[in-house]
Amino acid sequence: MNPRGLKFQLLAWYVALVLACLALLGLATYLALHSSLRTALKETQLRRARQIAQLLHERSTGGDLAQVGSEIETRYAPDRNDRFVRITRRDGATIYQSEAPLDHNFDPASVPPPVWPEGEERAREIPLLGGRELLLATHKVQQPGGAAFLIETGAPMDEVQADLKKWVLFLATLLPAVALITLGGGYVLIKRALSPVDRIAASAERITALNLGERLPVAQTGDELERLSLALNRMIERLEAAFQYSRRFVADASHELRTPLTALRGELETLFQEPRLSAEARERLGSALEEVERLANIVEGLFAISRLDAGEAAAEWVKFELGQLASATADQMSLLAEDKHIEVACQAAKGVWVQGDRARLKQVVVNLLDNAIKYTAEGGTISLKVGAQDSKAVLEVADTGMGIPPEALPRVFERFFRVDAARSREQGGAGLGLSIVKSICTAHQGRVEASSSLGLGSRFRVELPLSSAPSNNHKQNHHEH
Ligand code: ADP
Repeated sequence: MNPRGLKFQLLAWYVALVLACLALLGLATYLALHSSLRTALKETQLRRARQIAQLLHERSTGGDLAQVGSEIETRYAPDRNDRFVRITRRDGATIYQSEAPLDHNFDPASVPPPVWPEGEERAREIPLLGGRELLLATHKVQQPGGAAFLIETGAPMDEVQADLKKWVLFLATLLPAVALITLGGGYVLIKRALSPVDRIAASAERITALNLGERLPVAQTGDELERLSLALNRMIERLEAAFQYSRRFVADASHELRTPLTALRGELETLFQEPRLSAEARERLGSALEEVERLANIVEGLFAISRLDAGEAAAEWVKFELGQLASATADQMSLLAEDKHIEVACQAAKGVWVQGDRARLKQVVVNLLDNAIKYTAEGGTISLKVGAQDSKAVLEVADTGMGIPPEALPRVFERFFRVDAARSREQGGAGLGLSIVKSICTAHQGRVEASSSLGLGSRFRVELPLSSAPSNNHKQNHHEH
């Protein structure tokens, strides 16, 4: 995952926040637990101290202080219960101190001498060996007779510490588990939340100048993603309008140019017939006519492309055999090839049916053959093949001509592109022939590609969707025509 990416950042923040919250919660519960366990222990110890105070009170009025110790032993057995008890008089004399616990849990000697508290009661922790602690509760008694005693009761805090340790252990195992769950869950959530973006991007990727009519999917979520897709769709709409405008402009311009050009050509041709014309004027007129011819070709080409781009090819679609069309066209153009002593070998398989605009697909064959003848030296060979491959109708025109340099190959289908303006212009080309081929192929859901090796020849391959053969009836009709 890309560390600068949105997904990673969101996930990292999400996991960090959840873990921080959990750690905070863990700390708070730890403190609360610590305080409540300590309070409970303190309360028990203070209660015990009060009970001993009561005992002391009862005995001291009877005057028998020495008995208090043995009574504490019988009642509370501090040595067996791991408890500490100490009674000190105001003057410092220890009236009673419990024995060391039988299991040597702690050493009563390590408990520091009593500290007389300000108030009546208090509790404090006394450090023991090995990092342990003893909670010592202190209770002060002031007897009416004037004597004051300090009763101390203590218990090791081992249980509290063990409970706290359990809690810490629990947290320590919980934290990685929660980290894993938030990581996995967060990943799925974020991926799902961002998947519309992927979808929008994938659709946006598919939209090109050729299918500007398509729109992006709009996730109706009422949020930023919906706004994004709507905004992108509006942008595509504006682009489409701009494209259409420029296409219409080319179509209108070329259409407007056709009539005056035809008129001009007519005028020039009539003038050319004029017998009184001097030889020089006739020659000039001849080259002017040639230029007008070229201009008319360009305008026709532009007009054809703009109509194709506007999607008008759909008008006269029929089903026909591509092989038949190709060989008929090759026959018609054979004179042109013969002039240059070029042999045209035609291998057209039968039964390769396609559906489309016959005249336009014929234009494809004408343009490709025309180029092949134009750019092949005298005595060369041209091969025209039609066949079916992987449910596609394939038409190939290969020549043994001059070839196309590799750097120019990707651009030959661009409008007005000529490999070498000089070589093409001599032959009367304006660089529109192949772009017309491409536009026609695209309008038929097909494609065209070129391969070439410089000096050896070129190969143009057209692929069109293969159509099923028409029913018998239809076929017969077709042959009769
Ligand atoms: P043009 O009308 O100038 O021939 P095209 O669009 O038909 O324009 O072709 C574009 C360019 O591709 C041409 O200028 C030509 O140099 C090159 N080209 C096309 N077909 C061939 C071919 N069969 N052999 C060599 N070069 C070719």
